[in-house]
Amino acid sequence: MNNIKDWCISRQLWWGHQIPVWYCGQQYEASKKIMGFHKDVVPQVCAGKIKTYRLRDHGFKPGDKISFESSQTGKIFGIGTITSIKRVTVGAIQLDDPAHGTTYKKRSGLIAAFKRHHPDQSINDDTKVFIYTYIFNPSAKTEGCGEIIAAVGQPKKCPKCKQTNHIRRDPDTLDTWFSSGLWTFSTLGWPEKTQDLKTYHPTTVMETGWDILFFWVARMIMMSQYFMKEVPFKYIYLHGLVLDRHGKKMSKSKGTGVDPIPMMEKYGTDAIRLSLILGTSPGQDFRLYEEKIASFRNFVNKLWNVSRFIMSNCKKMPNGPWNSPPPFPNDYSLSDR
Ligand SMILES: [Zn+2]
Repeated sequence: MNNIKDWCISRQLWWGHQIPVWYCGQQYEASKKIMGFHKDVVPQVCAGKIKTYRLRDHGFKPGDKISFESSQTGKIFGIGTITSIKRVTVGAIQLDDPAHGTTYKKRSGLIAAFKRHHPDQSINDDTKVFIYTYIFNPSAKTEGCGEIIAAVGQPKKCPKCKQTNHIRRDPDTLDTWFSSGLWTFSTLGWPEKTQDLKTYHPTTVMETGWDILFFWVARMIMMSQYFMKEVPFKYIYLHGLVLDRHGKKMSKSKGTGVDPIPMMEKYGTDAIRLSLILGTSPGQDFRLYEEKIASFRNFVNKLWNVSRFIMSNCKKMPNGPWNSPPPFPNDYSLSDR
């Protein structure tokens, strides 16, 4: 397990385990979108500054609620609601705009201010910038202290400020692989020390598709090492994927999957079996499509005819089920043919 990188375990989905984290007030009521302000600018924002010039595209839209953070302390000092975003050149910025707070006598002063934040960028009159205009609401003290609380159940009060009114749970869910990474032991009764857990954990062979080696297998190892102090399996057997006729992953939404049931009814189960196993090698992807199944149906028919021909010409067969004449295909059910 090398090269493990940071993993964003938070997802905005309606399924999954909800993240067991609560916020005391502002942290949650604020927003995950953050804009930093230099500590010297924070008092200006509180005093009525409603514009900020940025080189960087923050990706905000009008109406977005943004947590305003003091860049030096990391503290959220309020919420800004973006009212407009303009894209202009440095040369087009109105130097003495009172809405911006600090005004500049000369454009060189404005450029010098940009350079303080982006020392490695060359900035001139033609450089494009964003002008964000916003409505600012300072964080009220009564809105909670911003404490982040990780707990198994809903906390009754904030452990830091003891307030009870502002505790909100994070609405996000855990990444699917965070939950499924618990699979090896959560399916065996963990956290109880069950007999199944004792008997089957760790196991010997884990079998899965190669495409989820890191998503699933690595996560199971991480989770098991953390909770069980052991690697949950000795060997991983990776199978290939069944792809569509173009070698693309079968997709439910694109309707490129092959449903085996109607294929079996049309071509027989042996044809399906053969098309799934012939010409494949361990771990390799392979394609499945109707013409391929049809060609195996033809092949199975040949085998059938060959065996009927041999049996009808063998007068002295040892005793066995073949002594009675083989039934015609029509005597079998469709899926047995
Ligand atoms: Zn608190």
